[in-house]
Amino acid sequence: MTAENMPSTQAKNTYDVIVVGGGPGGNSTAMFLHKKGYRVLLLDKAKYPRDKICGDAISGKSVGMLKELGIEHEMEKLDTAKVYGLVFSSPEGKMLEIPFPVKDGEGHTKARGYVCRRIVFDNFLFSHTKKMVDAKEEFQVTDLIWDNDTVVGVKGFDMNTKKEYEYKAKFVIGADGATSLVANKVGAEKVPDEHLCMATRVYYEGISGMTPNIEIHFIDSVMPGYFWIFPLENGKANVGLGMVSTDRQKKGVNLVAETERVIVEHPLFKERFKNAKKLTDVKGWTLPFGSFKRKLHGKGWFLVGDAASLVDPFSGEGVGNAMTSGKYVSEIIDEAFKTNNFMQEHLSQYDTRLWKEIGPELHTSYMLQKMGRHKWLLNMVIGKASRSKEVRDTISGMLVNEEARKSFISPMFYVKLLLA
Ligand SMILES: Cc1cc2nc3c(=O)[nH]c(=O)nc-3n(C[C@H](O)[C@H](O)[C@H](O)COP(=O)(O)OP(=O)(O)OC[C@H]3O[C@@H](n4cnc5c(N)ncnc54)[C@H](O)[C@@H]3O)c2cc1C
Repeated sequence: MTAENMPSTQAKNTYDVIVVGGGPGGNSTAMFLHKKGYRVLLLDKAKYPRDKICGDAISGKSVGMLKELGIEHEMEKLDTAKVYGLVFSSPEGKMLEIPFPVKDGEGHTKARGYVCRRIVFDNFLFSHTKKMVDAKEEFQVTDLIWDNDTVVGVKGFDMNTKKEYEYKAKFVIGADGATSLVANKVGAEKVPDEHLCMATRVYYEGISGMTPNIEIHFIDSVMPGYFWIFPLENGKANVGLGMVSTDRQKKGVNLVAETERVIVEHPLFKERFKNAKKLTDVKGWTLPFGSFKRKLHGKGWFLVGDAASLVDPFSGEGVGNAMTSGKYVSEIIDEAFKTNNFMQEHLSQYDTRLWKEIGPELHTSYMLQKMGRHKWLLNMVIGKASRSKEVRDTISGMLVNEEARKSFISPMFYVKLLLA
């Protein structure tokens, strides 16, 4: 970037970019921008380490982003569990174990991703961000600062000094999660209920029958959602369930009560939880699905992560897409400064390029979510796969390959299964 294209970065309380929110979306945005040489301020209302209600699954996509940031190897030092495959159960109770197809030199299944409590994972990200950019905890952003129709900064409250402050920047990034203040203030379209999911999380230890696999159980009462058990370090586990908001409303399900009921009463789980210890209360939070396309840019602002509504509508994964959006927004901002082009036409490239990258996958997942409403289909697929190694191998390949995953939404896949 040339000196004349740079804003007045040396002025006190003035930055190139302000990032609101220090989750995976905000931290990766700040780190990618720092690597490109920008002066960044990241603000979060929480004190770190802070919890985030989540399934804690850190997928291969998230690990890929950590690699690009140069911090992937440090995951090994954190308290995590490595994941080697998936276990599914069908609504009629058939179990299916599918190891990931990738093998190491000795023919053993290789791990793909981790389960890492977000209190650990986000603190890991935030501690790296803090080394690179100005980062303030316990700072609640309360409003945006406008110059006519352009966002030029934020106002907020520092919980330590108990004072209000203003910070200015060329761009403000809303990385402030599902209830984003930035998205609300810029008038972003509300995510409709049919594209929102409500989900719960509770930590346990000592559940019997745990394996190094992620468990996804399509149980009747929360269909087309699912109940999960994800292994954590030292015999702990992340347990929860989720449902699309409109389905939850229609069925009148109280998700916290249902989580507790499934654990105590469901025939597949009651024995497994009999001697397990509950470590936390059951808590719930919202997932804004990427089946809804929100406008992600405007004059002086961008949205990333949950604020941008990018969660996978089938798996419920949002960490990888939050980090991916951080990477893409940093590229657009870099180009804007380098070419001195802050026009809408250029900024809109963020939406275009991000959707080109993650749109097809989100579309496949949305189709799968719709198909998951058919109990007989899930019973058929899981039933056939539990009896046939060939079908299991096919599904295993499809789980790790995006192109192959599209077969899940092809009628021919199901016709072949019926004939198998
Ligand atoms: C029950 C549940 C299970 C899930 N399971 C998984 C899973 O297993 N794997 C997966 O990949 N995804 C999962 N997700 C989705 C995932 O949690 C989110 O997609 C991810 O956290 C999005 O990251 P983010 O950085 O956009 O937002 P967040 O992680 O929500 O971070 C937002 C940050 O903004 C801060 N903030 C908010 N408002 C302000 C303000 N006004 N001023 C200053 N700071 C502010 C908050 O303190 C917070 O630190 C799950 C979600 C839920 C609810």
